Amino acid sequence: MVAQIIDGKALAARLRDQVRTEVEHFKRSTGRPIGLATVLVGDDPASEVYVNSKRKLSRETGIQDHHRRLPANATQEQVAQTLDELANDPAVSGILLQLPLPAHLDAKALIDRIPWNKDVDGLTTTSAGRLARNIEGLIPCTPAGVMSLLEDEGVQLQGAHAVVVGRSDLVGKPLAQLLLQKNATVTIAHSKTKDLAATTHQAQILIAAAGVPHLIGAEHIAPGTVVIDVGIHRTPEGLIGDVDFNAAQGKASRITPVPGGVGPMTIAELLRNTLKAAWLQS
Ligand code: NAP
Repeated sequence: MVAQIIDGKALAARLRDQVRTEVEHFKRSTGRPIGLATVLVGDDPASEVYVNSKRKLSRETGIQDHHRRLPANATQEQVAQTLDELANDPAVSGILLQLPLPAHLDAKALIDRIPWNKDVDGLTTTSAGRLARNIEGLIPCTPAGVMSLLEDEGVQLQGAHAVVVGRSDLVGKPLAQLLLQKNATVTIAHSKTKDLAATTHQAQILIAAAGVPHLIGAEHIAPGTVVIDVGIHRTPEGLIGDVDFNAAQGKASRITPVPGGVGPMTIAELLRNTLKAAWLQS
């Protein structure tokens, strides 16, 4: 078996086109703009690249760009004040605090200053609670992107066994909640899981979000599994994922590549969340 490749780049482009049309509709029907505020603290080059591509793609969909940059030695109070100003600015529909923050800052406390209806990363305690209780809100972008890929591929979720490798607040936990909402049977594996291969072998849908390059090999995958690779790692040979793509391709039925799988979906979902946030506030 050679796995079919799931094209995240193509789906992300389609979703961005939809957002562009819907942003126009929002502006026409409410007379208001939509704005995304990105907040970057310090000068981590990878964060700068991520923020720049989020800003570029949001501008391309008609969303106004409200970027704030603070120095690496910014204090907790300075970052908090910036977030509060954006929270009170009616031109700002969504606020994204780029992570990781410099180590001296309390990231959780800062994230929680963002009002839930502007929390386009879906990372506040309120957003996590709303997701857990299945109350409408803003869902973290990467898990939302994974769900959109599975939906677009027509993967049957109800009754399927999904194994999520990773339990972070950013990816693993919210993804498990979303899969549960779709009536999948969900197993979450993590660094203390005793026999990872035996656990992942049970999966009909396997989602790798461990942050360990090529953690998942052929021995972790039962024949016919749908494999979604969330991991991103920069190597001298280019970007690679948590899944050993070449090994997995012979076992999986469908698989996302890295790059070109989940990555582009994350930004598309950010733009969708910004649009949704604008409606939530209108
Ligand atoms: P994270 O916060 O470091 O969490 C990693 C999770 O994986 C933890 O729950 C950890 O378990 C688990 N884990 C680590 N080693 C493991 C092992 N050997 N076996 C099983 N589980 C293991 O990472 P994250 O923020 O969720 O991100 C995960 C990956 O996705 C990273 O490569 C990141 O770059 C990538 N990512 C990609 C996108 C995108 O747009 N495509 C977005 C976000 C993140 P413990 O809880 O026990 O420590």
